[in-house]
Amino acid sequence: MLDLNNGWNKIDNENEVKIDGNVVFKRPIHHEYCPLFCSSCKNVVATIDDADMIKKEKVCELCYITYYYINKEKWEQGWRPIEKTTNR
Ligand SMILES: [Zn+2]
Repeated sequence: MLDLNNGWNKIDNENEVKIDGNVVFKRPIHHEYCPLFCSSCKNVVATIDDADMIKKEKVCELCYITYYYINKEKWEQGWRPIEKTTNR
């Protein structure tokens, strides 16, 4: 069976365990995952600053800097440059 959760098994709604030999690891499920890609430009998260910004605003630091300052009012109302299409 394909293991999509890297050995972790959910034991209740808040915790999961992984058994490795005689050792049982337990972790809360609701830890924060950091996305690997910016939701705006789709670039891979490369720096700690990007990772921090993606956790906060769902976009990388460059997108934040690029879009936030010119769209500050819209941004604060929840707008994000996600729907913007780019020419590829
Ligand atoms: Zn970006």
